[in-house]
Amino acid sequence: MPDGATTRDLIVERMEVTLTRWPLKMKRRHGVGDVERSMPGVILKLTTRGGLVGWGEAAPWSVFSGTAEGNAAALDVYLRALVVGRSASDVQTILDAADHAVVGHAEAKAALEMALDDLRGKALGVPCAELHGGVVRRDIPLSVSVADPDFEADLDFVRARLAEGVRLYKVKTGFLTHREDLVRLERLAAVLPADAEIRIDYNQGLEAWDALRKLRDMEAFRPGFIEQPVARERRDAMAMLAAALDTPILADESCFSPAEAVEMVRRGFADAVSVKLMKCGGVRRAKEIAAIGGAAGIPAYGGTMFEAGVALAAGIHCVASTPNICLGAEFYTANHVIGVDILERPLDLSNGASHLPDAPGLGVAVDAAALRSVTVEARG
Ligand SMILES: [Mg+2]
Repeated sequence: MPDGATTRDLIVERMEVTLTRWPLKMKRRHGVGDVERSMPGVILKLTTRGGLVGWGEAAPWSVFSGTAEGNAAALDVYLRALVVGRSASDVQTILDAADHAVVGHAEAKAALEMALDDLRGKALGVPCAELHGGVVRRDIPLSVSVADPDFEADLDFVRARLAEGVRLYKVKTGFLTHREDLVRLERLAAVLPADAEIRIDYNQGLEAWDALRKLRDMEAFRPGFIEQPVARERRDAMAMLAAALDTPILADESCFSPAEAVEMVRRGFADAVSVKLMKCGGVRRAKEIAAIGGAAGIPAYGGTMFEAGVALAAGIHCVASTPNICLGAEFYTANHVIGVDILERPLDLSNGASHLPDAPGLGVAVDAAALRSVTVEARG
């Protein structure tokens, strides 16, 4: 702990929950749904009696996991009493109590965990990755998603990222016809250098009955993996596809929690898994999923939702300290998709990677004016 700091400094005195609306720089189309001009989100700010500030972020998507309004209410109405007046050192006890206080709302719980760990890291003078077990990698290969319905705009986006060193490109498929997807893949493959890797994400966009023959066509592009080809509950079809194809099948929507990761191993419904703080409720649960997968030889990928910067920083600390999340990560939305950067200093995405911040805690600071500019409602 730095000179002068005491555990008393970690008593949370104030909790502010801000419902935001992020403007978006580009349209996004996914098998599961479309996003156009803007996206709601939640920013959490905890202030201790000693004046330390901890930041958290919930990034739900209504068609995927939950709503921003519901997660803001979970924090404001149901979780506030567990936090205010308590020490951030009690983070595990608080998270256990949160699971009993409100079912689901993993995004709110992830935000709460982030803010408490940010406070602990700042009090101890160490990055969150140190708290999470120690740093195993400081640079995380960046994957960007090709998901704009304007494919020409997407190719410009890809060329710009190529120039920055990005080598992992995840193409969102399943929202157009199969033939149109094959044309997009051909055109993308033509602009990528030999050391770049294509990955394909259907976001549940295929029907199970004819998925296999479509995915066999996709294997011609040698994708690193094919993500969530069918609906999340079609786990038997996922298992069939994983067994039938040479290309690894990666579970995203079919694996939200450690319990579902156990099912993934038991039923063999995926060869790899996307770990997202917003699906499972934070870094601790993400590490459980990665460990369950790792014990079965299943590697993990660092997935994200529409995250504005605080959540991405938490994801970086998670991947930086988790050996089995070894397939890269998509920590690019704050820089390239969301139209307002709420971080005082944007995340460093140089050389085709996201990089672990050096400063204590999450290592990011929120710009108050930028946050005000996207605030819909602030509580507390
Ligand atoms: Mg996905």
